[in-house]
Amino acid sequence: MSSPGEYVPDVTEGITRVEDLPKPRIERRSRNWSARRCPRCRHRAGRFAVRSRTFHDLGDARVDRPVDLVVTFSRHRCLHCGCCFVCDISDLAMPYCRYTRRVQQRAVRLVAEDGLPYQVASWHLWRDHRVFVPYATIQNWVEAAGKKNPEYAVGQLPRCGTG
Ligand SMILES: [Zn+2]
Repeated sequence: MSSPGEYVPDVTEGITRVEDLPKPRIERRSRNWSARRCPRCRHRAGRFAVRSRTFHDLGDARVDRPVDLVVTFSRHRCLHCGCCFVCDISDLAMPYCRYTRRVQQRAVRLVAEDGLPYQVASWHLWRDHRVFVPYATIQNWVEAAGKKNPEYAVGQLPRCGTG
């Protein structure tokens, strides 16, 4: 019988082959509209294409698996002014970032609030949240957040640099 305080190492410790790591579970979100209002001239702009992007999200701690968010979104063309734009998904992830905002916020907090070094924060995110973020990426996020707001206000995340 194990005691409450017994040390149990992470199940992935010692794994050296990527294919042996737990596979991500796919969750889907849709931002697919037949028409949106044009951001430039405010006229109705019809959909002309549908795209999808995959973002690494916080994993599922209960089943110890990563979670990838697949977001389907529409692209629109305004016939009035010619403007082409994509449906806004910035509530889920920042432009050019492969991770969700939740992951960025958690990572920056680990460093800014808990004072974890970048490499430790990277391991923490994998061990406790099953999301792998290279420590250099975390460093980019934190440094950009620091430039924007020295107090690291939660929610004030930068545009994603690398990764
Ligand atoms: Zn327009």
